[in-house]
Amino acid sequence: MSKGIWIFVEQAAGKIRKISFELLSQGRKIADQKGEPLVAVIVGENIANLTKEVAEYGADQVYLLDSPQLAQYTTGAYTSALTKLLRKEEPKAFLLGHTALAKDLAPRLAQRLGVGLASDIVDIEQDQDKFLLFKRPVYTGSAFSLVEIESTPLLATVRAKSFVASEPDSSRQAEVIEATVDIDPADLKVILKDVALIITSRPALTEADIVISGGRGMKAKENFTILEALADVVGAAVGASRAAVDSGWIDNQFQVGQTGSIVAPTLYIACGISGAIQHIAGMGASKVIIAINKDPDAPIFNVADYGIVGDLFEVVPLLTEEFKKLVN
Ligand code: FAD
Repeated sequence: MSKGIWIFVEQAAGKIRKISFELLSQGRKIADQKGEPLVAVIVGENIANLTKEVAEYGADQVYLLDSPQLAQYTTGAYTSALTKLLRKEEPKAFLLGHTALAKDLAPRLAQRLGVGLASDIVDIEQDQDKFLLFKRPVYTGSAFSLVEIESTPLLATVRAKSFVASEPDSSRQAEVIEATVDIDPADLKVILKDVALIITSRPALTEADIVISGGRGMKAKENFTILEALADVVGAAVGASRAAVDSGWIDNQFQVGQTGSIVAPTLYIACGISGAIQHIAGMGASKVIIAINKDPDAPIFNVADYGIVGDLFEVVPLLTEEFKKLVN
């Protein structure tokens, strides 16, 4: 009999990603309603110190897949180790954040386990027959579909900020289980030699409360410094449209949209971005949207809560100066 709502707790360099806390918090609610245990899985090397935090967010049990072979993410090693654990323990559901890592990992797990996958879901509905149903946006967010999965575990990747992380409860404890790490040598097709990290004091794009993005209207790579100056005053992440990325002005990890990251910050400021449907698909769920564009007919104003018709090279530095006064 399969059991438990399982959550993949994603960590990098020993730091748990925000999405995992959102999933644990929502998973706790589902587990309580269904009368199931909430089980977390942490994968990596020397990760035992993360169990306390995971317990505080509601996990009853924490499985550790701890091995030097799992120190850095590689598709083969993670797929091999997790498939074996999931086959053995047979959870009812296994939820992952819809992150770059899980976009790679989840389809492989689905294929190995021979189960369906609901990807990029934004809500979970409880169901008598199917246990859980998954809501996901389709047609670049113009409609939603409700996905039923026939097989178990019910496998889904969940979009960041779809659920709210609860306050951690320091009195909570979890049973810690050190799982046997069993990786097929045949799965180690890629050996990771080195990792180049971009060190930034800014928050990660998908986790930031404020995102400031620039588009083709930025006109040149060096002009992104005016967005960075504003971002550093308000503690924001910097994003971009695909046009800015394709122009080589900013790395593609900062692209927001259908083929980039999906963000849902409290505040999104779009600078020199026209508002193509593929861009809106990545930021339309932001709570408050401010658009700065010199064209009063730009479609971005249709989704903006506040629109500033003007030259971003005048408006952005003015905003920076005003925000400086507020935060000082
Ligand atoms: P433009 O559409 O050229 O708009 C630039 C804007 O800047 C204009 O509105 C202009 O009025 C304004 N402007 C110019 N100068 C100034 C100034 N000085 N001050 C103020 N405003 C100024 N796009 C994405 O962003 N993300 C995606 O993930 C994505 N995925 C795609 C996937 C597919 C399959 C396809 C076909 C396209 C995708 N696109 C994506 C591209 C998308 O269709 C648009 O081409 C792109 O979003 C346009 O970027 P932009 O708004 O920066 O540029």
